[in-house]
Amino acid sequence: MLYYREHFLHISDEGFIEIPRYMQTYLPHQLRVCIGQLRVSSHQLEIERGRSKGVPREERWCPVCKTEVESEEHFVIRCPAYVDLRAQFQIEESLQLCMTMGDQQLLGLFLAIAYERRDRSLQPTHQPRVSTQQTITQFFQRAELHQRGPSIGLTVHQATAQRARCRPRMGRYHRPQLYQEDISRIRRAYDHMMEHRCTTTPWVVFLEETL
Ligand SMILES: [Zn+2]
Repeated sequence: MLYYREHFLHISDEGFIEIPRYMQTYLPHQLRVCIGQLRVSSHQLEIERGRSKGVPREERWCPVCKTEVESEEHFVIRCPAYVDLRAQFQIEESLQLCMTMGDQQLLGLFLAIAYERRDRSLQPTHQPRVSTQQTITQFFQRAELHQRGPSIGLTVHQATAQRARCRPRMGRYHRPQLYQEDISRIRRAYDHMMEHRCTTTPWVVFLEETL
């Protein structure tokens, strides 16, 4: 509460708490959200993330510059990663001035762009950023490849496996021509099977083994 009073409240000369300036100015929704989230600590900065993970306060380092604990003040006022943005959006030198007297539109813009830069710098470099639309397109392309048949975009191994899964069409089935010796061999094998009571052998296996 002390932290909040120190940084986010503005008390007038008459001793009244003033309405936060961002609530009195017209701001686009996104900027209003950025400022509001910072004021109520509903953000993704390490100081809050670490709290939920049980990290001690003094170890919640800024993941971008790794020089200080990433508090709201560090993010808005001190983190060296956003120096140019601070100059561009005329950010005041103290968090309290920013939150009370500073231009709220510029502050909102600074926050939106700085959050975006922070997210981008924390993304692993070996994984190129893929947009949602790209992912959806790739998903359907893969499905299409699968439907067209085994010859496109599949390895020989996959194609064989896919063909094995398909049910054989009855038109292609030709009854094997049996000769007298085959028939007698089947008979002999059948008798042998019955004799040893191997009745669990499926017919297909039985014929395959015999022929
Ligand atoms: Zn930093």
